[in-house]
Amino acid sequence: MNALTANLLAITMRPGRRYDGWRWRYVARYVRRRDDMTCRNCDEHGHIVHHVRHVSEGGSHFTPNLRTVCRRCHAAFHPNNPWLRA
Ligand SMILES: [Zn+2]
Ligand SMILES: [Zn+2]
Repeated sequence: MNALTANLLAITMRPGRRYDGWRWRYVARYVRRRDDMTCRNCDEHGHIVHHVRHVSEGGSHFTPNLRTVCRRCHAAFHPNNPWLRA
């Protein structure tokens, strides 16, 4: 599991689309490990992989666009959509 593999998988995923398949699970697992399961916003434990540029705005699934965050910070990032996971 490494950044190259994660981004090669991201190439095959359509930007701007929620994605729940095995490729996304692999990319998300890579990002959680990269970030040590720590929220990059508040340093608490976190496991949600958030898109910096939101998927709904065409954000990509490439690893530079992804951050591990905790549930509380993630809700703050998506004030209009509290049920969005990533
Ligand atoms: Zn947080
Ligand atoms: Zn998010």
